[in-house]
Amino acid sequence: MPELRQNVATREWVVIATERAKRPENFVSPEHALTESRPAHVADCPFCPGNEHMTEPPILSIDDGVGWALRIVPNKFPALSSNAGVERSFCGIERRMAGFGFHEVLVESRQHNTTTALLSDLEVVRLLFAFRKRGKALAEDSRLMMVIYFKNHGPSAGTSLAHPHCQLIGVPVVPHTVRARLQDALAYFDEHGSCAFCDMWRQELEAGARVIVAGKHCLSFIPFAALSPFHIWIVPTRHMPLFTQATNAEIEDLAEVLRVTLAKLYHGLRDPDFNFAIRNAPTHEGTSRSFHWYISIVPKVSKMAGFEVGTGMFINPSLPERSAEFLRNVALPSGGAYAIDGPPRRNGSRS
Ligand SMILES: [Zn+2]
Ligand SMILES: [Zn+2]
Repeated sequence: MPELRQNVATREWVVIATERAKRPENFVSPEHALTESRPAHVADCPFCPGNEHMTEPPILSIDDGVGWALRIVPNKFPALSSNAGVERSFCGIERRMAGFGFHEVLVESRQHNTTTALLSDLEVVRLLFAFRKRGKALAEDSRLMMVIYFKNHGPSAGTSLAHPHCQLIGVPVVPHTVRARLQDALAYFDEHGSCAFCDMWRQELEAGARVIVAGKHCLSFIPFAALSPFHIWIVPTRHMPLFTQATNAEIEDLAEVLRVTLAKLYHGLRDPDFNFAIRNAPTHEGTSRSFHWYISIVPKVSKMAGFEVGTGMFINPSLPERSAEFLRNVALPSGGAYAIDGPPRRNGSRS
């Protein structure tokens, strides 16, 4: 029998199509060139070393002794402009404001043929520290309501540049789904006297069936009511509404859990396209007892169809428990990461 499941934190219902559920192996990406098989340097890539003049001057640049190891630059084609105002205007049904905001690109590595899944833990720590540093700086700007951190990997996830990069955008409004998340989390808190996200990670850890990686300070799992195949959440185990509230120890642990989770997707599903986003609270909700930030990873392994468009409700043709078991069993190349500039260790022993 098909089953309807509801996520207690977001209140979203999903149809788990058990009758036509596909085996996890069916979601392995069709033959395509893996990220690591690309050239390590591309002459006309604006994010490759030697082409720094093709981007704006960096807002942040971290050197590792050999050269820059990470850069944050303003997006050349920003979705929002830092020069606009924040005045709103109302005229009948037309409500508008100028497109104020900040849109920055974080170049994850000087190496072209890599991705977060293939970085070392140190490089992912550097990436998350840079996110937190910029997030804190943008939070000082009272015109911004919140900061969103995300990554698009692969053409079907919306990326136009292959060089490994993430983005962050500061917006002057609270987006609708964020507002809905906040309200639903508050409703859960009213009913249960506890944070839905804290309850979720505890029960997922106890049940174990949907866990992918259990870190010291965060848990990676496929939620009970996952909206699509291999839709993953990484939830910090300490209650906090904002990503910028994470401590160094929490970020170091998160980096490893994020890297291992993405590596399992990379090796298990053959480098699928995906988006990840840090689902964050608005900056002024830093003391919320009911909202809790987390990372959502959505591999692009199934398509949105008319039912989803018409209802906002998803049909998930996979079983979260079986997908999580599949990922737990994906063996990673020994060491788990590739050397920063060395060739990928393709023939490393499996562990
Ligand atoms: Zn490049
Ligand atoms: Zn919580």
